[in-house]
Amino acid sequence: MLNRTDLRGSQRDPRGLLPRAQLDVSVAVERIRPTVEAVHQHGFSAIQEATERFDGLRLERLRVPAAAIAAAAEELDPEVRAALLEVIKRARKVHADQKRQDVTTKVVDGGTVTERWLPVSRVGLYVPGGLAVYPSTVVMNVVPAQEAGVEGLVVASPPQKENDGLPDSRVLAACALLGVDEVYAVGGAQAIAMLGYGSDGADEGDRCEPVDIITGPGNIWVTAAKRLLRGVVGIDAEAGPTEIAILADETADPRHVAADLISQAEHDPLAASVLVTDSEALAAAVEAELTRQVASTKHEQRVLTALTGEQSGVVLVDDLEQGLRVVDAYAAEHLEIQTRDARQWAMRVRNAGAIFVGAWSPVSLGDYAAGSNHVLPTAGCARHSSGLSVQSFLRGIHVVEYDEAALRDVAGHVVALANAEDLPAHGDAVKVRLQSDLGRRAGR
Ligand code: NAD
Repeated sequence: MLNRTDLRGSQRDPRGLLPRAQLDVSVAVERIRPTVEAVHQHGFSAIQEATERFDGLRLERLRVPAAAIAAAAEELDPEVRAALLEVIKRARKVHADQKRQDVTTKVVDGGTVTERWLPVSRVGLYVPGGLAVYPSTVVMNVVPAQEAGVEGLVVASPPQKENDGLPDSRVLAACALLGVDEVYAVGGAQAIAMLGYGSDGADEGDRCEPVDIITGPGNIWVTAAKRLLRGVVGIDAEAGPTEIAILADETADPRHVAADLISQAEHDPLAASVLVTDSEALAAAVEAELTRQVASTKHEQRVLTALTGEQSGVVLVDDLEQGLRVVDAYAAEHLEIQTRDARQWAMRVRNAGAIFVGAWSPVSLGDYAAGSNHVLPTAGCARHSSGLSVQSFLRGIHVVEYDEAALRDVAGHVVALANAEDLPAHGDAVKVRLQSDLGRRAGR
């Protein structure tokens, strides 16, 4: 079922040899550019048009009425409520520990630099809702933003035919549980454009003001729109179609490996499931398990499309050392280590969105209830980006304060560097202070 890449005996850099989707984000950017530009220019009418086209719905208003959010919370299944409350508690515990303290560094006597960590004012949190709906993503977005101290929280999530054109009722209930009341029934690239540029609505009370940062996962169109809007607003990371890589040896249980590969393939036909192993026997056993388990999984067709796609596969390696180089080159959103001495191998990994260690830490645990964040970088972005955290919503601002003696002490160096860069006015801005001060002291 899975494509095979055999890297045994290969000394080449594995980066270009690994399974990856052909439809990459840069291609998708060109496809969604007209939608994003239309929303920028025409606001509500363009959002209505895109919603009709991509969601098959006529959007009457952008904003979800407060009464609908409250009603969703009232009607929430008690089991789901209990699960969400537990998940919120665990996520809060982990994210509270990520808060940053302001730090003042005394550089010299009379000269300090203080780094202040300030939250952005208004954030747009995208919660997907195409093939599946994601109340868990409300938690993963909102909790770090709240722990960072963000005051303006806005959620956008696709309208659902089953909920009269409102976002999924469990998504709305999760918003209510977290105290978020500004929610828009808009999805896809049009939602990202609305958050980034702002938009008029059906009437004056239905406007969406632009945000400072957009976070959250989504399909390839959402991810492409985030890339296009980067710079207009801040973007957390590209958290696109999900990926799981599993580094496994012959000690791994093929039933677990297969179940975990399927669990992520369930998200999207473009999801990637990659097994990296030095054991032919394990690879064969996982194949057999996949055939067995896929046949009885609910979203069989979606899973099959994802597992047999060019982005998924088995990569055979000589040993776990080569396996480690492969998973580092792949930089998976989710990486499971199912090997002997799993923790030791995990500690040597350099590139991954999140790492799941050993037999008892499946990715599904992290998707919901580990306390970790599930909004994670995809498509190799884990080489340079992190998952969503409190830090994603903060800016560090340097506050510089020197007194006269401290400035005088370093003035010669400033002037020397200003002259070296042929920017003498920079040096003059220092000299004028020292000279005028000398003049004042001399009684002029
Ligand atoms: P989604 O909300 O991301 O996408 C649905 C929206 O896509 C619809 O509202 C529709 O308007 C829009 N759309 C469809 N075709 C479009 C087009 N051609 N142009 C513009 N917009 C278009 O929901 P989904 O489809 O279920 O996808 C959710 C994704 O989120 C999955 O790929 C899943 O793997 C991913 N995910 C990633 C992470 C992560 O952290 N990386 C976490 C959770 C989920």
